[in-house]
Amino acid sequence: MKILFDTHTHTLASTHAYSTVMENAKYASEIGMEAIAVTDHAPAIPDGAHEWHFLNLKALPREIYGVKILYGAEVNIVDLEGNIDLGEDILKKLDVVNASIHRPCYKDFGAKDNTSAYLAVVQNPLIDVICHSGSPDMAYDYERIIDLAKKNHKLMEINNHSFFMRKSSIPNCKKIAEICKEKEVGIVVSSDAHIAFEIGDYNYALDMLKEISFPEKLIMNRSLKAYEDFMAEKGKKLFQWGY
Ligand SMILES: [Zn+2]
Ligand SMILES: [Zn+2]
Repeated sequence: MKILFDTHTHTLASTHAYSTVMENAKYASEIGMEAIAVTDHAPAIPDGAHEWHFLNLKALPREIYGVKILYGAEVNIVDLEGNIDLGEDILKKLDVVNASIHRPCYKDFGAKDNTSAYLAVVQNPLIDVICHSGSPDMAYDYERIIDLAKKNHKLMEINNHSFFMRKSSIPNCKKIAEICKEKEVGIVVSSDAHIAFEIGDYNYALDMLKEISFPEKLIMNRSLKAYEDFMAEKGKKLFQWGY
């Protein structure tokens, strides 16, 4: 299966990633991708981009090497109240808002139940995708949150990076995908690339989805159009911001 829009990629703006936007776009073009979202880490993570990075994303052209460029962020969920680390003024301009828990900037790391954090996030109208949420250290009530994801028009992410960077998450990633299949909730499959040549690589995630016969129609980033249509249903238009 081809997934033509990678909704989660990093650049040098997060200093533990190693490619530029140009390098990412070039590689994406070479492998026949339609689009990538530039979603660097928001400021709460120790080497995240400054908020000015996000305010100035409009400096990026909307197409590089024939690949559409979407402006985005990977915001940090910072506590059990589901607070995040970029303001509404910025988030409402972005095409793709990914939300994740990262241990170094999650005040409540160690809590046995993180459902309250995800409850706030899944109902936050500024957030589009709940990312790499399979970590056993950050467990939550999957059924309840995935029901709300459907109701609130959010997407659940199956993150290819988790299959080799966060291996303890694999069983829960599968569980999340199975619940999404059962409840017919949309997902995105992303690379979470930290270097250009990871873009568009979803091999591990796709193997798992194949194993559980996950329906292609629920993979909302299979094409840019599928993603745009899904967002249009909740009244969000992409490519609205820029010069
Ligand atoms: Zn992340
Ligand atoms: Zn990431």
